[in-house]
Amino acid sequence: MLVNILKIGGSVITNKDVEYSLKISEVYRIAYEISKAYKYCTKHMILIHGGGSFGHSTVIEHGNVEKPYSIAQIIWFMKELNMIVTDALNAYGVPAVSFDTHAIFYRDFDGDLKCFYKPLEKALKKDIVVVLFGDIIFGDRDAEILSGDEIAWKLSTIFKPSRILFATDVDGVYDRNPEEPGSRLLEVVRISEVGSVDMESRKKVDVTGGMKAKILHGLRYWNSELREVLIFNGLKKDFIFKALCGESVLGSRVVL
Ligand code: ADP
Repeated sequence: MLVNILKIGGSVITNKDVEYSLKISEVYRIAYEISKAYKYCTKHMILIHGGGSFGHSTVIEHGNVEKPYSIAQIIWFMKELNMIVTDALNAYGVPAVSFDTHAIFYRDFDGDLKCFYKPLEKALKKDIVVVLFGDIIFGDRDAEILSGDEIAWKLSTIFKPSRILFATDVDGVYDRNPEEPGSRLLEVVRISEVGSVDMESRKKVDVTGGMKAKILHGLRYWNSELREVLIFNGLKKDFIFKALCGESVLGSRVVL
């Protein structure tokens, strides 16, 4: 079973600069594109979405992710966003089932991320589209944020897809912050060289490490099955559909 892993950035479905602000038309457009991909190209998809201004704002408002009320609120807001995404998918006829990240992921004492993936595997075999989201998880040390990016990388070690797709709100990875004049889109990004690229989001609120962390997880989770890791613009019409169907789209290819 060839599984497609698509991470949809919080920046694509929410306005990251405005608290709890949804880009509802993007959510519906993306759901439509995924429904087309489901109909014409692939029944086996794991979709993971980020928190955007639902997750990041709540974390900043609470100032911690360890206290009981913080945990409950952050998870509640993420679940709220997740239900909107899952509803939109079902509205377009995609049999999408959301699995609570905090119920199936756990960080052990050594920092290893554990995942109870059997239910996902069984659902995928039934042509169900699996939906997960960046969330708070529990672990041997304490509760912590688990980014959608790390979920995507981790699941690639379990389901061995040939590609991981990261949809974000810019065309890919630039040689410096894309807001800076003269910045240039990189066709290929070598993970080992990412340390030297400026990737600070000056305007946007991000508690999961932004673009740099998205790429650096590859150091830990790269596996021999991976042929392509693509960072591309999920705001561009039909890019998500095309990427899921294996057509080439503009973006940056991440290599070891
Ligand atoms: P998402 O929410 O889609 O996962 P992030 O907000 O984590 O995405 O990262 C995307 C953002 O990273 C872009 O909006 C961009 O402004 C910022 N960014 C900073 N530096 C870079 C860079 N060198 N190349 C690409 N994007 C960058």
